[in-house]
Amino acid sequence: MLIALGTCASFGGASSAAPNLTGSMGVNKVLNREVINVSGCPVNPDWFVGTLAHLLMYGMPELDPLGRPSLFYGNTIHRHCQRRSYFDKKDFAEKLGDIECMFSLGCVGPKTGADCPYRQWVNHVSWPVKVNTPCIGCTNQDFPDGSTPFFVPLPQKIKMPKQMG
Ligand code: SF4
Repeated sequence: MLIALGTCASFGGASSAAPNLTGSMGVNKVLNREVINVSGCPVNPDWFVGTLAHLLMYGMPELDPLGRPSLFYGNTIHRHCQRRSYFDKKDFAEKLGDIECMFSLGCVGPKTGADCPYRQWVNHVSWPVKVNTPCIGCTNQDFPDGSTPFFVPLPQKIKMPKQMG
């Protein structure tokens, strides 16, 4: 049993960003061992310690399709985001610092599994959207290439050719 800590260890992450000259990839593609992915760039300490504690006290945690503990990655950022009511009303921010939903500014919370909105960071004090920064999807299998160009809305990101990122 092995825990891959961080998005680089889990999926390749920034180290494998295009053009990936080094051929970087996740640990589970290199070692023939059972791997729990604890992705994040950086990893929330709770995700790591919580995974260890679960292994020690209850055994193997339930994993999502990407091999991550569902306990921490099972819901999207978008599902519990404090700005979700703005999204539902299609009330979008025009610039950083506006209080509305930042989907218009490139937030990828709708495709990112993590519990940041309620676990938060820095001893459970805050998290990116709370300090006016769109989620950049650092826990995702396709991070960072699937999140760039940053600050461009998600539908346009998907249509945009990679070299324009
Ligand atoms: S800020 Fe991002 S995560 Fe929050 S509601 Fe808007 S799109 Fe969803």
